[in-house]
Amino acid sequence: MTVKTRFAPSPTGFLHVGGARTALYSWLYARNLGGEFVLRIEDTDLERSTQEAIDAIIEGMNWLELNWEEGPYYQTKRFDRYNEVIDQLLAEDKAYKCYCSRERLDALREQQMAAGEKPRYDGKCSHGDVEHAEDAPYVIRFRNPKEGTVKFDDHVRGVIEVANSELDDLIIRRSDGTPTYNFCVVIDDWDMGITQVVRGEDHINNTPRQINIYHALGAPVPEFAHVSMILGDDGAKLSKRHGAVSVMQYRDDGYLPHALLNYLVRLGWSHGDQEIFSMEEMISLFSLKAINKSASAFNTDKLLWLNQHYMKTMPAADVAKHLQWHFDDQGINVANGPALIDLIPVMAERCHTLKELAATSRYYYEDFAEFEAGAAKKHLRPVAKEALELAGTKLAALTEWTAEAIHNAIQATADELELGMGKVGMPLRVAVTGSGQSPSLDQTILLIGQARSVERIGKAVEFVASRANS
Ligand code: GLU
Repeated sequence: MTVKTRFAPSPTGFLHVGGARTALYSWLYARNLGGEFVLRIEDTDLERSTQEAIDAIIEGMNWLELNWEEGPYYQTKRFDRYNEVIDQLLAEDKAYKCYCSRERLDALREQQMAAGEKPRYDGKCSHGDVEHAEDAPYVIRFRNPKEGTVKFDDHVRGVIEVANSELDDLIIRRSDGTPTYNFCVVIDDWDMGITQVVRGEDHINNTPRQINIYHALGAPVPEFAHVSMILGDDGAKLSKRHGAVSVMQYRDDGYLPHALLNYLVRLGWSHGDQEIFSMEEMISLFSLKAINKSASAFNTDKLLWLNQHYMKTMPAADVAKHLQWHFDDQGINVANGPALIDLIPVMAERCHTLKELAATSRYYYEDFAEFEAGAAKKHLRPVAKEALELAGTKLAALTEWTAEAIHNAIQATADELELGMGKVGMPLRVAVTGSGQSPSLDQTILLIGQARSVERIGKAVEFVASRANS
């Protein structure tokens, strides 16, 4: 049988990191076994589902490059199919119409709670002889077995067994005619041939009910893996309060999709002590059995570390595709400076995110209006004038623009003036970048370019002169 897994988000918000991790595990499982992956949008909750959320989920999946063979399917387009199965269940007396009013159900619930019992439907309408007005609204309930137990072997949690006496007759269609989640999910997973259901542990209580529906339909029951929660670094359930929770926010904050995937795969799954996984390794090593039972805490520092690792080690051309987005976002025109593939190896050492890399690289592409006050005060002093002038002349005279030639010009300046390298280097750095921080000076000047560097050094000389006169 072909392995087929799915990701089935409800489009009530953006794709959050918990959902993305579930999607990743499901996707990896399919890829590991050469199976197929389905995307299904569970939009039966008409009030809470939005097109915006659908778009955001698809955008997030695409950004993470979690591709699917089938879908996106939409549950709202499958109502005919759900109704067909509901009719069949009604005909076979495996489901029944329930006319109980909200008032009755509320009163029943209160009574049961007051008596210390678990609230559950009492089966009043299950015998089919209830009186009701001709046009009284009704829901459809699934006739849950009364005897025995439901049992399944969860890939993460092990064997789970629930007595049917614990489960009441579930509503499978509301009085407005819309089918409910627990029913649709079964029909979909059956129709779509899903062999393994990987989902959040918040659904674990639904599974026994769903298994009873599979049995009633004579449908094969898929395997299940319920993945634990993600917590914030303070131990509370991950929420907006902890910063970014939307996958696209991670794009905006400057993370590489691969870094986020690598981070998410380790958040609840392990392979020995290994922390860094290429996509190929993730796919070949992934197994549901190695997923942790306990909740995992989000750790932004580790994500930052992984992100920098990938910025430094991935082919620069691949990083450049993502970096370009940040240049556009920050309004920096790449055409006005070095190619991103040349910039990345120089700057990735110093930054943890692409956003930071773009923001701290502006001086390669644009002239700055002013030198940073502190750096200028410290390094653009009258004593630096001679060094700046001589270095400017030597750099202007270079016929070969290489890091080595630049280095030699700076060294020669220091030697001729009998100054330490720092006395030449720091004023030069402030002159060409506007600040006191940059990668190695020869690399920086190389990327800024000859004409632009020489012009900036000229401006710094003027600045020093005006300062001396004031
Ligand atoms: N639509 C459900 C959710 O977003 C997932 C259902 C499932 O995976 O079975 O929580």
